[in-house]
Amino acid sequence: MIQIALYGKGGIGKSTVSANLSAALSDLKKRVLQIGCDPKHDSTRLLLGGAVIPTVLDYMRETPQEMQQLEALVFEGYGGTACVEAGGPKPGIGCAGRGILSSFEVLKRLGLKASSFDVVLYDVLGDVVCGGFAVPLRKEYADAVFLVTSGEYMALYAANNILRGIQNFEDEAPRVAGIILNRRGLFAEEERVFTFARAVGLPVLVSLPRDEVFSQAERAGKTLAEAFPFSTPASIFRELAKYIETLEKDRSLLHPANPLDDLELEALVLGRRERPCIKPLGTYPAPDKK
Ligand code: ATP
Ligand code: MG
Repeated sequence: MIQIALYGKGGIGKSTVSANLSAALSDLKKRVLQIGCDPKHDSTRLLLGGAVIPTVLDYMRETPQEMQQLEALVFEGYGGTACVEAGGPKPGIGCAGRGILSSFEVLKRLGLKASSFDVVLYDVLGDVVCGGFAVPLRKEYADAVFLVTSGEYMALYAANNILRGIQNFEDEAPRVAGIILNRRGLFAEEERVFTFARAVGLPVLVSLPRDEVFSQAERAGKTLAEAFPFSTPASIFRELAKYIETLEKDRSLLHPANPLDDLELEALVLGRRERPCIKPLGTYPAPDKK
């Protein structure tokens, strides 16, 4: 059994990659559990024909403890994948990290066992804003972390920041599997991401093209395995699923987190050797010269 977490900048394609990867893994006859850890609770929709399922946190709030049942929270998606949405607090109130932790505890109390699955996949909020982002990095959850990024500076900045977050947790074995490049179609994009990957000592595991089939499948509420099994991206997800099968048996493929400092990252990605000089505004409003 392996538990994996997908991290990356907001909007980079984590949920799309998670659902398509779960589908490809289920086609390999793996028993898969996908847990969306985002208040938007849209991680599993492509596995469920576009349906959005109730979240663990909402259910906890609305159902007395003695009436809570696992069946109300785990739904069957494409290929028999088990789908769960952890949910989150109301916008502006509460802590997403604490919410995720309590939803994991509820799932455990109601009898959900990670060990009943071959792969548990966490689709995680990727911007390092508070300690909550790191909940799935705790030892008892993710064994392996995948970074989803494009070649845009801010996406690589987020990937590097996530490596910083992982470094704080890396008291034991290395945990980073590598980079999933989800291209935006930018000039020299692959080259930039490969350069970043070399600098942080990680492999680029797959390179997904920007492709219209993603939005067509999204409109149909389906994964590519179901809607476009013969498309190039679908075959890339099959390749990634096979890699995870290998990783399940061989943890020596994992890498330590070695983030760059901000200036190194700027030099590497933006080609900027030094930061421009800027003048402080001084006292404002300006003192009266009279
Ligand atoms: P969030 O951080 O908000 O949870 P996310 O990282 O989960 O976002 P997604 O919701 O998976 O991102 O993807 C954002 C949008 O980009 C979706 O509409 C998805 O269909 C589209 N998309 C993702 N990857 C590709 C691609 N390679 N080609 C075309 N469209 C894509
Ligand atoms: Mg998402």
